[in-house]
Order: sequence, then structure tokens, then C-alpha cells
Amino acid sequence: SISQEAWGRTVTMLTYKAGRYGGTLHKVPAPHTSRRCSACGFITPGSRQDQATFVCKNPGCGWSGNADYNAARNILHLYRMGHALVPAAGRAVVRRDKRVKPATAR
Ligand SMILES: [Zn+2]
Repeated sequence: SISQEAWGRTVTMLTYKAGRYGGTLHKVPAPHTSRRCSACGFITPGSRQDQATFVCKNPGCGWSGNADYNAARNILHLYRMGHALVPAAGRAVVRRDKRVKPATAR
């Protein structure tokens, strides 16, 4: 059902709803957000055991948990690291907030 979603409309609605309640919507680059381990940062093949389960294959890590939760942590990490996209430009720019230390993203 995700592939059939009208993402432009979803972004418009989320922007509207977030603004209505005093928030803002930020987009981050999607590549590897579902395949990267949010605990150690490694991207290893086969870490998605099924749709819902993420198990890190890094021998020194082995973190496991819900795959959506893992992806959400990666997305938050990208945002906190200043990798938010500017929707009008459609490209990534670095807008690092000096108050947020990278370590707090984990
Ligand atoms: Zn890991």
C-alpha cells in the first residue's frame, strides 16, 4: 500500500497539520534509513529478517528490534545531524543546529 500512496498529497497534509499545531515538517534523504542499524550505523545485507524485524549483522553490535522503530531512529538522527531537505529546492543541504550534539541522536 505504501507504493500506491500519493506522497505529494501526504506531504501537503502533514505540512498543513503540523503548522496548525505549531510544528514544522522536515524531510530527510530516504536512502538506507530502513537498512542502516540505528545503534552502530552499519549497513549489512540481510539485516531485515522480515518486514517487521531488524537484526544488525555487525558482529560487534547485534542490535535487534522493530524495523520501523529502527528506521525512525535513523530518520531522527539524520534530522538532528542537519540533513533535512529543503522541499522547494528538492536537494539536501546542511542546516546543523549547533545546540544539538550528534550523540543525542542515538
Ligand atoms: Zn548495529
